[in-house]
Amino acid sequence: MPKRFRAGAIIVAAGSGSRMGRPKQFLPLCGRPVCEWSLEAFRKLPEVSDIALVLDGESVRRHGGRLGAGRVKVVEGGATRMDSVVNGFGALSPAVDVVAVHDGARPLVSAGIIRKTLTEALRSGAAVAAVPAKDTLKQVRGKALWVCATPDRSEFWQAQTPQSYRREILAAALKRSRGKSSATDESQLVERAGQRVRIVPSGYENIKITTPEDLVFASAMMNERRGGAVRETRTGLGYDIHRLVKGRPLFLAGMKVPHAKGLLGHSDGDVVLHAACDAVLGALGEGEIGIAFPPSDPKFKGISSHSIAEHVLGKLEDRGAEIANLDVAVVAEEPKLKGRYRALVRSLAEVFRIDRSRVNVKAKSNEGLGPIGRGEAIACHAVATLRLPAD
Ligand code: MG
Repeated sequence: MPKRFRAGAIIVAAGSGSRMGRPKQFLPLCGRPVCEWSLEAFRKLPEVSDIALVLDGESVRRHGGRLGAGRVKVVEGGATRMDSVVNGFGALSPAVDVVAVHDGARPLVSAGIIRKTLTEALRSGAAVAAVPAKDTLKQVRGKALWVCATPDRSEFWQAQTPQSYRREILAAALKRSRGKSSATDESQLVERAGQRVRIVPSGYENIKITTPEDLVFASAMMNERRGGAVRETRTGLGYDIHRLVKGRPLFLAGMKVPHAKGLLGHSDGDVVLHAACDAVLGALGEGEIGIAFPPSDPKFKGISSHSIAEHVLGKLEDRGAEIANLDVAVVAEEPKLKGRYRALVRSLAEVFRIDRSRVNVKAKSNEGLGPIGRGEAIACHAVATLRLPAD
């Protein structure tokens, strides 16, 4: 077993079917979509050098640009889970020694259990996170629901993910099964190929979000991990104004808005993102965006405000904080933004990785008064409320 190794991860979040109104991997959990918590768990491990996040086509288009950065590649899934795993596998570097496959809908996976399956897979080839069956199992055949057997529970484990494999073992199993497997997990393919698979005892909290009560449990577990119910609420204020000039694209709330003029600035001039970022930093007591991104520094000329937001999200994460809600008021004579509220809310929610229900956008004219009223500038006010662990 190599002392230092490179691991890849495939996070499968391409399911479209749902018992819960929308794909379960995108349901909000403590302010973020479920699958982003799963992604985060792998991102925190330095030995995981490559991550393939497998999403359905629509989600790739909507979230791909934002989530596919650094070690994370966003990949479109296939018709079945196995097709999705195959596509994810294709996006990993051939230099990885071991690959973990994980359900996007298992947001509570711990770093410890990921590491255990990776190291066990390096040692023995294939390792699956699982828990001993707690309830007595009844074998039932047919729709009339007559019990035909009660197997010995002590021999049964419930398989979870991550399921980790030495790269060549997973490659061979996927190749052999291509297009003709109905397996519900990869370990079945590996078992069928005659490879021994080892169980790695996991925890009962590593649940797969499947039904509505799972979200209640997951949210309670998540809060417990982050210091229990004792959370502090803080509010921050942000304000920004930029000149409106001809010959520049107009960016507001992280999206391009069609208009004859755009905002002048050292960056892309997105007043909404700047005000929102300042509101978040304000609540954290971390100053303002001009400290980390001084306009005098040529290095930041022309940068996208998305990078500024990423920096702010990093600060949030460092503090274990989450955005409870974000409210922005844009002051603009032109363009009229009322017809774009939904798109602006969606964009802002995506930039800050929170659910749309936590974001509000409103626009006001300046009643023709002053430079804003004359269409020479756009301003934005923002208020952010955060929840932080109590000091
Ligand atoms: Mg600004």
